[in-house]
Amino acid sequence: MISARSVRKHYGNTRVLEDITLDVAAGEVCCLIGPSGAGKSTFLRCVNHLERINGGRLLVDGKPVGYSERGGRLHEMRGRELSRQRSSIGMVFQHFNLYSHMTAEQNVSFAPVTVHKRSRSAARERSRELLGRVGLADKADKYPRQLSGGEQQRVAIARALAIDPSVILFDEPTSALDPELVGEVLEVIRGVADQGLTMLIVTHEIEFAREVADRVVFMDGGVIVEQGPPAEVLENPREERTRTFLRRVL
Ligand code: ATP
Ligand code: MG
Repeated sequence: MISARSVRKHYGNTRVLEDITLDVAAGEVCCLIGPSGAGKSTFLRCVNHLERINGGRLLVDGKPVGYSERGGRLHEMRGRELSRQRSSIGMVFQHFNLYSHMTAEQNVSFAPVTVHKRSRSAARERSRELLGRVGLADKADKYPRQLSGGEQQRVAIARALAIDPSVILFDEPTSALDPELVGEVLEVIRGVADQGLTMLIVTHEIEFAREVADRVVFMDGGVIVEQGPPAEVLENPREERTRTFLRRVL
């Protein structure tokens, strides 16, 4: 589903991703943990081609991210082609990033209507159904400013689901929330995970990772230090760097 081979990314002289090789299988829930500056967000942004990689290969659904092949050569995608590929990848950010001038329902319908050319009425119906699934049936006509942080983030999750993505990427979806709102958002993500969607989740909620992840990947300094089932990586880490990190956050 996601296949990264020796992915490298630098900004000028700063090497942010050194050599990331990671496969996320269909239906797998993979949690990415690690200290600030490890390169976790950068990697997620590369998977969505919000950043261009400087080396290696990155495939989603077997296709190179951000590039299409024509005449035996890779061309960088732009415009509609890129939006179409991006629309198979859902993304939920730390700061919700909802369209502030649209209601919850319109936020969720936007990509289905503009990118997928669904009819307004079909998209609206599906949007309401998805808002129901994240517990916001009664908030469909509210604007983001009328919603709590946790509600806004649940709208963002419904929006990511609305495009029927093959993969959903979450970047610290709860870290901008007041503590009492974290639970409701994690609950919704847990529900999505149970439906067998492929998910790559950057999180500092170690307990949540333990419970929801099929695999935990610990990153530090632009490399994957270790990865495996939560019971291994979180309970019984092999690497000293992982142990040090976990001691600090647990
Ligand atoms: P956090 O847990 O704080 O979110 P992270 O693991 O997500 O950290 P990244 O945001 O991926 O880390 O950043 C990794 C490194 O890349 C950092 O040192 C950061 O300063 C650097 N970096 C990120 N974006 C840019 C940019 N646009 N230009 C220059 N450096 C950048
Ligand atoms: Mg980050």
